[in-house]
Amino acid sequence: MTIRGKVTIKKGKEYSIERFHPWIFSGAIQKIEGNTEDGCWVEVQHHNGKVLGYGHYQNGSIAIRMLTFEGQPTLKNFYQNRINQALRLRNSSSLPSDLTNAFRLIHGEGDGLPGLIIDYYDGAAVVQAHSVGMHLDRKIISIALQDTIPGLHTIYYKSQSTLPGKIRDTKQDEYLFGMGVVPHIIIENRNKFYVDWEEGQKTGFFLDQRENRRLLGDFSKGKRVLNTFCYSGGFSVYALNAHAELVHSVDSSEKAITMTRKNISLNGFDEDIHKSFAMDTFDFMKEKQEAYDVIVLDPPAFAKHRDARHQAVKGYQRLNTEAMRLINPGGIIFTFSCSQVVDRKLFYDTVVSAAIQAGRQIKVLHHLSQPADHPVSIFHPEGEYLKGLVLYVD
Ligand code: SAH
Repeated sequence: MTIRGKVTIKKGKEYSIERFHPWIFSGAIQKIEGNTEDGCWVEVQHHNGKVLGYGHYQNGSIAIRMLTFEGQPTLKNFYQNRINQALRLRNSSSLPSDLTNAFRLIHGEGDGLPGLIIDYYDGAAVVQAHSVGMHLDRKIISIALQDTIPGLHTIYYKSQSTLPGKIRDTKQDEYLFGMGVVPHIIIENRNKFYVDWEEGQKTGFFLDQRENRRLLGDFSKGKRVLNTFCYSGGFSVYALNAHAELVHSVDSSEKAITMTRKNISLNGFDEDIHKSFAMDTFDFMKEKQEAYDVIVLDPPAFAKHRDARHQAVKGYQRLNTEAMRLINPGGIIFTFSCSQVVDRKLFYDTVVSAAIQAGRQIKVLHHLSQPADHPVSIFHPEGEYLKGLVLYVD
């Protein structure tokens, strides 16, 4: 970690940096000095020469991801300090606890580390780099984790699918420390899950739905529950542990359905009370004659970029309309969007138009979001991505 170059910001473009926004777009740069390469650390200067901070440089639309806004680089123990700050934040909301031993340890910009995600699964850390800078720093990040997390036995680096172009082609996912055995069992609000970071999607488990799954439990007793886009069965397990009458889980991925089945049996349930379907959710809802009391809609991000937003909105609308038509009177729908480009207001409006289409009486019971271990810096509102509604359908 050495500072390889100096970047001067155009006059008038320094305000957002002074307000701690961590992204510097290429259009805000006046000049670059030094031997800068993708992923290196650079010093960022005001046009008057004042140091604004330090960040990772990467040729592209976001040219610099700020790592510190201090005038002096405190590179010694930089990652240790950031991880300790992040741990303190998690501890403030009782993570980990006797009930829950898995949480997101580093959530990119929300923890002052743009481009870095680290999920912690009871002794194992899964590290995911979204920028070249974090990729190049992965070994020191691994050492920082070993220094700061007591009892850590495994660090798995999984960035093949998240790194940009050139690097992605050559990079293999690998263990940086230890050699954890997958699947690995975690507990979340007392529910048990297998996590397979080698074969699973993303880092292996969707930790961001923890609080929303718990809320689902409150609505599930004695109910017939449909969990669509179920992945490894997170919502299904909570519904069963909260005494649902039956649960149906749907995912288009066979691998996901296999994981769901394993998680259902890990929690002591069998295929009498739970059924899983490896199929497309839209097809499932079209073919299904059965009615449900509770439906969960947690699709993948329908839009990853702004230009896909219109199509995504149509997808959310169709999905929600179908569920509203299918559900029993007095039923509950948990509906989500994790597309960052579909903001809370647009998502709400989309659900309203689905309700108009469905022609049912609908009330909003809860507004849902991402949990405390996925924090959003108040200076970086782009960090908010998960939103959801709990609807009561008459
Ligand atoms: N609710 C899950 C996370 C959902 S991730 C949890 O709590 O863990 C989204 C899932 O949707 C993925 O598992 C993906 O395989 C699945 N998926 C994507 N498109 C689908 C479709 N058209 N029909 C059914 N499942 C789909």
